[in-house]
Amino acid sequence: MSDTPAGSLYVVATPIGNLDDLSPRAARVLAEVAVIAAEDTRHSGRLLRHLGLSQPMLSLHEHNEASRVDALDARLVAGEDIALVSDAGTPLISDPGFVLVRALRDRGRRIVPVPGPCALVAALSAAGLPTDRFLFQGFLPAKGGSRRGRLEALAAREETLVFYESPHRIRDTLADLASTLEARRVVLARELTKTFETFLDGSAAELLARMEEDPDQARGEFVVMVAGAAERHDPDASTVEADALLTALLAEGVGVKQAASVAARLLGGAKKVWYGRLQALKDGH
Ligand code: SAM
Repeated sequence: MSDTPAGSLYVVATPIGNLDDLSPRAARVLAEVAVIAAEDTRHSGRLLRHLGLSQPMLSLHEHNEASRVDALDARLVAGEDIALVSDAGTPLISDPGFVLVRALRDRGRRIVPVPGPCALVAALSAAGLPTDRFLFQGFLPAKGGSRRGRLEALAAREETLVFYESPHRIRDTLADLASTLEARRVVLARELTKTFETFLDGSAAELLARMEEDPDQARGEFVVMVAGAAERHDPDASTVEADALLTALLAEGVGVKQAASVAARLLGGAKKVWYGRLQALKDGH
């Protein structure tokens, strides 16, 4: 047995777009470790080149993670330090690394987080939805039926709901949100820290309409945040936005009963409350 103290595994967060978001500590750790385990060595190679580093790398992704554990552990036992990075953001957060970290922790190795960018935290920090309690759900299921089932199962949760989504499915997900959690306020954080960073908020149906008008809004990477059940729109509160919608419906000749259904569907609350408000607007109050 060697007397060399075991090395540490550093779990290093890397930028989600803007390279300036890499912390000085992360850069120092990447420069000092013996090897960097990366989700995609070509992708992380670009970051290393940007930092002027040429550290040895090896791939660690969902298909080889379990088979890498023993070899990486042997290097730690031999006294080498290792960094774990993913393509973007914090490893293990909808990214590889859990199998390795669990196995090494079970073997008593030292695991050190080097915190930094994480899309869900960045998105929540600027969305204006409650952050005291939130429920991160990663990616929703790819198939429509399972996706709607998952959303229905979350309908009663009071925490802000947070999902990751790709440009291929963002419209389908918004459509499913519109049909399952119809009344909620939704905030979309797109292309965080990048040139086209955008925050959009409104009901899921409104956001879908925005994407139809401007297909660029459906491009890039998304964090989808949905107000929890406790945040449902209060139809008793007189809001300019709601009144504008109701007035527009009446002006288009939509009947009071039908307009009340539309308002309840889009904004939440009971049809009869909207019916009363529509009558009042119609009567000029
Ligand atoms: N580990 C990463 C983190 O810490 O955020 C997440 C990795 S996950 C495979 C990739 C997903 O994160 C994307 O599909 C998107 O939902 C979200 N994401 C990553 N970067 C983003 C960005 N710049 N803007 C918005 N969402 C982003």
